[in-house]
Amino acid sequence: MPNSSSTTLSASDPMFLRALLNTEGGPASLERMLLQKMELELKGVFDKMLKAEQEAYMALHNAHNHDEEAGRPLIGRWKTNGFALCSLAMPDGGDPDGIYTGVFRDRSKINHSCCPNVSSYFNPCAFAMEFRAARSIKKGEELTTNYNGDIMPPRVERQRYLTEDAEYGFICTCRSCKSTPDSNRARSYIQRNKKPKQWQLVVWLMDQSRKSGSEDWVVEESVEILGFIEQQGLELSPQYQDHLSFLAEAYCAMGSARKAVLWLRKFANVRRVHNGEEERSLEELLSTVVNHGRWNWAKRARVMMNHVRTA
Ligand SMILES: [Zn+2]
Repeated sequence: MPNSSSTTLSASDPMFLRALLNTEGGPASLERMLLQKMELELKGVFDKMLKAEQEAYMALHNAHNHDEEAGRPLIGRWKTNGFALCSLAMPDGGDPDGIYTGVFRDRSKINHSCCPNVSSYFNPCAFAMEFRAARSIKKGEELTTNYNGDIMPPRVERQRYLTEDAEYGFICTCRSCKSTPDSNRARSYIQRNKKPKQWQLVVWLMDQSRKSGSEDWVVEESVEILGFIEQQGLELSPQYQDHLSFLAEAYCAMGSARKAVLWLRKFANVRRVHNGEEERSLEELLSTVVNHGRWNWAKRARVMMNHVRTA
């Protein structure tokens, strides 16, 4: 018979369901029971750590004093400082946040910002957290990361997550939060225009002689929004990737290898920031462009339209 402290319970476990049904005191009592079980599991890990690591762990900030007071000193620090190790997600497409959480001596001390300048990625080969800059960072500038999953909601939602959902227990005073009306309007504008104008590319391909349908007409809105996103410090938003990807594809379809590589390189760099991909050489990027399924659609479209006109 296994010791109960080392038995993993899950919602599908009949023993767990029996315990659930027998729990008196409702959800609060059930929550206490689950937290107590997690504390025991963390204790099993904690006891295997070196003394110096244990001291470093206990020196981390704990925003969950109620856990400490309830005799759960480990779980509060885990909830305050833990980061989902997304790169260790199950290969079968399970929870995208992965099944592991890591607490780091230094990484866990990096402050939050709603317009962060670094993103982190857990490198399973190096078994270490890597930091990558989302934009140029000045010497002496504080590194900041994002504790929320999404940086684009309005401030009231971001703050609710920080104080109520995740219970980090602080009021964010980052650049975005200090200028709430402006930053809320900016986020709303970016989200309204989150979809690049694919239809303009199609119109241009079908009638490349149109005065109003120049190359600039196809790309200028995405270029403008990218500049605006950079002004707001929101390079880690999904919209930033969407517009970079569109520009690379648009110039690819137009048959402009130089411009397509330029934007693809920016897009690839942003992907690296998010998921730790290796840097790609110019030769690799050029090969991607000229072997892309949309490469020089402009030429094909011209041939097709000439054929239609002369038929
Ligand atoms: Zn903020």
